[in-house]
Amino acid sequence: MPGPYDIFVLVKQVPDQGSKAGLNPDGTIDRARAKRMLNPFDRYALQAALHTKRTYGGRVTCISMGPPPAVEVLLEALEHGVDRGVLLSDRRLAASDTLATAYALHKTILWCGHYDLIFCGLQTTDGDTAQVGPQIAERLNLPQVTYCEDFSLDVENDRLKARRIIEGGCQHVISQLPALITVANSYHPLEYKSFRGAWKVAYLQRHADELSKVITTVDLDIIGAESDRCGLKGSPTIVAHTDKVGELGGSCKVSEGQAPEIMVSDVLKASNVKEFLAVS
Ligand SMILES: Cc1cc2nc3c(=O)[nH]c(=O)nc-3n(C[C@H](O)[C@H](O)[C@H](O)COP(=O)(O)OP(=O)(O)OC[C@H]3O[C@@H](n4cnc5c(N)ncnc54)[C@H](O)[C@@H]3O)c2cc1C
Repeated sequence: MPGPYDIFVLVKQVPDQGSKAGLNPDGTIDRARAKRMLNPFDRYALQAALHTKRTYGGRVTCISMGPPPAVEVLLEALEHGVDRGVLLSDRRLAASDTLATAYALHKTILWCGHYDLIFCGLQTTDGDTAQVGPQIAERLNLPQVTYCEDFSLDVENDRLKARRIIEGGCQHVISQLPALITVANSYHPLEYKSFRGAWKVAYLQRHADELSKVITTVDLDIIGAESDRCGLKGSPTIVAHTDKVGELGGSCKVSEGQAPEIMVSDVLKASNVKEFLAVS
């Protein structure tokens, strides 16, 4: 019978949008000034990975690609119950677009070894392309279930049953394992950190030798990636122009407790809209 499962989850550290980091003069995000956080969409992927482990058994490996501070998101994942972390960090990865990112991450996955399920977030709050998960699935020649909001494993047949969001409804799909899933934010929110997990991380942070057994930092040479296919060299995408979007200001008026027509008319008056299409 299949299982326990080798479960992988990919998480990215992103600038905290609340920290108002702004842009560099060349239009790139000023990451050095930004506070850092776990990509909010990856919290659902983490929950899906941990749920799979608890329900069906297995081991969760959490992978992140980024500069050294990205180890923070791996520590956070450990507090939630993942078993090991792998950080891909290499200066030659700077300015990687999605093609280069997916290449480097799929090489990291191959370096880590056997996998049954790979979970990704739907998208990130900085790059926001939602391309990395599907590109990794293509590179690994895996079936992919995108926009997945619920799933279960058919352990006997080594298959996955999933419900994914499509325009106007949902779709039920069955896939053979191994497979890659991008998890929608209508999936269950990430549970609280466990006391055991928080204690373990606190201990590991005081014992660097023990920490290095649980979180491995790798570079392009270790994972056997070609540096020409990473970073700026491996990125055909060119950011031609960047615009700074002004902050949305203004006050908020709430219309409530009246007939719908009156409330709609109130809102339209407040927003200075002269004409509208009535929808019953
Ligand atoms: C020309 C160009 C230059 C760029 N230069 C830089 C740069 O210098 N520095 C920089 O940080 N970004 C840079 N970016 C942004 C970078 O391409 C993207 O952030 C990156 O490729 C991931 O794409 P995304 O954020 O849209 O991820 P999405 O495709 O939206 O992410 C989907 C999911 O994939 C997984 N994932 C994505 N990225 C990672 C990761 N790094 N580690 C682990 N899992 C991940 C997560 O599960 C995530 O939820 C650049 C982009 C372009 C186009």
